[in-house]
Amino acid sequence: MKEDFLKYQGQTTPHPLGIEITSAKGSYIYDANNKKYLDFVAGVSANSVGHSNEAVNKAITEQLQAYTHVMVYGEFIQEPQLNLCKALVNSLPDSLNSVYLVNSGAEATEGALKLAKRFTNRYEIIAAKNAYHGNSAGAMSVCGSEEQNSAFRPLIPGTRFINFNNEKDLEKITTKTAGVILETIQGGAGFIEPKNDYLRKVKEKCDEVGALLILDEIQTGVGRTGTFWGFENYNVIPDIIITGKGLGGGMPIGAFIASYEVMDTLKENPKLGHITTFGGHPLISAAGLATINEINDRNLTKEALRKEQIIREQLASHRLVKEIRGKGLMLSLIMESSEIADTVVLEGFNQGLILFWLLYEKRAVRITPPLTISESELLEGCKILTNILNNIIDKAPL
Ligand code: PLP
Repeated sequence: MKEDFLKYQGQTTPHPLGIEITSAKGSYIYDANNKKYLDFVAGVSANSVGHSNEAVNKAITEQLQAYTHVMVYGEFIQEPQLNLCKALVNSLPDSLNSVYLVNSGAEATEGALKLAKRFTNRYEIIAAKNAYHGNSAGAMSVCGSEEQNSAFRPLIPGTRFINFNNEKDLEKITTKTAGVILETIQGGAGFIEPKNDYLRKVKEKCDEVGALLILDEIQTGVGRTGTFWGFENYNVIPDIIITGKGLGGGMPIGAFIASYEVMDTLKENPKLGHITTFGGHPLISAAGLATINEINDRNLTKEALRKEQIIREQLASHRLVKEIRGKGLMLSLIMESSEIADTVVLEGFNQGLILFWLLYEKRAVRITPPLTISESELLEGCKILTNILNNIIDKAPL
């Protein structure tokens, strides 16, 4: 099977993990050797309500019986889409009241950038160094890693980069700026939170010059950081948000959300300002709504904060853990070196615990379990992690 995987599937790295999956349920994934893995990654923050969540599966199955794809996005009234849009609007401040459903986080980024340009009639976009917003060419243009981007240039011109949390850099936001795009908490950069009311200050600067603030909530949103949306933690209301990942409860989804006034500019001159065939697919929308309901009904948002405390209590004092960054169930352990982080992640797989890396911060070990993870599962994972860390110390040369 692995030979065929390497032969027939386009590869993303020279060293894929290559574990052959047979099933997944709740917080566990099972491989072809019947090995059980406790999932501390949740498909990189996507399986917000656990694997094979019953409510999500039921919603998909029921919708499957009624209809699947019937028309490109935006023409027909499809109840699953409409219900999801309404639920999203109900979860947001009044000014964010119009939703455009798409297929992925990257497409949500594309839509938001186009919208900012279209609404302001400007083209310059300000983004942050070490940002990650997706991998289509437009989204890559606002990703702040030259190492990743340089092989694919030219990307979209007109992007300027600022340092996240650096107030002085806000001078770069001017009357030429269409939009400023930031992750609410920088993900790939190492789970870096905004400090000193930074996001509010960015928004004030945007208001001053007539630019739109786009917050990327693809990873921080949908309950992961202890509030339904990450920005609720930071005293700011953006002009546009983009979401994806955990919103689909394991299904592929994205959305960009703005005020009706801003969103309405996509509908004429030219009409069809953003087009998608499958965006808002009925099965995916049904899954999205079931996911939001699960998160609300089971109080998973607040629970994320309690679970964060459990992880911090178990791991923060370990000698090898230099720092625990992030919020709620979006946490990263910062190790002394990338070599130690590599050992922890790989040994995790050996010992049946799924951990993962971050894109740019190589000393980090990602902990983003399903929000549904139980306290005993969390303790079990932390115990495995502690053993791994202890073994590293035992094996280190004196
Ligand atoms: N933005 C952020 C903050 C992300 O973490 C990701 C995915 O990792 C994306 C955008 C892109 O989402 P997708 O992979 O669904 O295109």
